[in-house]
Order: sequence, then structure tokens, then C-alpha cells
Amino acid sequence: MPLSRTQQIKQLLSEINRHGVRNRRVLSAIATVPRDEFVRETSLHQAWENRALPIDEGQTISQPLIVGLMSQALELSGDERVLEIGTGSGYQAAILAELAAEVVTIERYPQLADSARQRLSRLGYDNVRVVVGDGTLGWPDDAPYDGILVTAAAPHLPRPLEEQLSSKPGSRVVIPIGRTDDQDLIVYERTESGLHEINLGPVRFVPLIGKEGWQE
Ligand code: SAM
Repeated sequence: MPLSRTQQIKQLLSEINRHGVRNRRVLSAIATVPRDEFVRETSLHQAWENRALPIDEGQTISQPLIVGLMSQALELSGDERVLEIGTGSGYQAAILAELAAEVVTIERYPQLADSARQRLSRLGYDNVRVVVGDGTLGWPDDAPYDGILVTAAAPHLPRPLEEQLSSKPGSRVVIPIGRTDDQDLIVYERTESGLHEINLGPVRFVPLIGKEGWQE
């Protein structure tokens, strides 16, 4: 017999918990945000599986485990302003909206940004602002940010993101860094003595295309 939606969510939570997502708030956000509202109709039967799925413009909605690990790495307590680069479907932005006070998310494809904006508004995420632009330049209008999460792979930490990160110790950038075909998930944490780097291990993301990223 196929699993019910509730059973599928429970199974996903237990899988990502086993693989390192331990933060209760993050697990609860993943249980709360309806991932089935963010995937294509043809992927609905896989919405609660721990896998990346295709969205429009040849992009992907990230694997829930990676969404969980990246969100957890920001160590949010609820009153932060967060910048996400790479809105895609809007799923990660909704998770961040459950964990922080305010989310600004940037997407380079206007069509993806429009549908994510509509979806997030329909689901009641009124603390998320979706903007169109080159996220490698950050979004200076709302800077500084307590957390910055980049959901596409960069060759290095773009300088504007470092500049727009709050100077408060404990603020963090989470970003996949490496080649276009494989990367490491890196956390840069602001400390009294500069940016401290932590490597969370190998990941695979679509490329971050822009002035301070990869060329198209
Ligand atoms: N966070 C998304 C979600 O929850 O569905 C998944 C993001 S997908 C793996 C990466 C996204 O980054 C794509 O939608 C891609 O168009 C976007 N992207 C790539 N380079 C970008 C840039 N310079 N600025 C903004 N978005 C960019």
C-alpha cells in the first residue's frame, strides 16, 4: 500500500535526521512547508523523497537533506534578516521564512521569480521578498544580512556578499564553492578576527551565473 502524505513526511524527516539534520526548528520547518506545492505536477509523486527535482528553465529544487543542512548551518534563532541567492521554486525561501524574521531572495530568471513570488504569496509567506537580478552582486538595498545562503555553485565567495554580511560575530554565509561539476559546502562565519571557514563536505549544485560567478 502506498504511504500516506503524513507517513512520507515522517520518513523524510527520519532520513535527513539520520544524515545530520538535528536542529529541531529546521526539522519542523521541513515538516511544515508543503514541498508538494513547489514541484511540477509530473514530480508530485516524488515531492517528499530526499532528492532534487527538475523545475523550469533547466533548474532544480534542491534535495531536502541539503536544504536542511544549509538552513541548519545558518544557526538562525528567529529575528534575523536573511538573503538567499537562487530563488528557483521558492522552497528554500519558505524554509528560511519559517526560521527568520525577514527573507530577501534573488533569482536571475524573471519567470522563475514570478512563479515563486505568486506561490509564496498564496501560501502566506509575507515575510519573503522575491527580486530579480544577479545575486553575485548581492542586494545592497536591504543589507546588512545576518545570514546569506547561496543555492548555486560559485568559483569563490563573491566579494559583494562578504561586504553585505553583517559585521556582528556569528553572522554566516553558506555557499557551495568549487568547480561547475562538484563543490564543497562552505560556511563562512564572521568572528572578531575575520571570516572563519568550515567545510561541510561535497555537494553538487547548478552553477551560479553572474558577474562574480561563472560566465554563461
Ligand atoms: N533555492 C531553490 C529552491 O528552493 O527551489 C533552488 C535553487 S536552484 C538549485 C539554483 C537557482 O539559482 C536557479 O534557479 C538559478 O537560476 C539561480 N541562479 C543562478 N545564478 C544566479 C545569480 N547570479 N543570481 C540569482 N540567481 C541565480
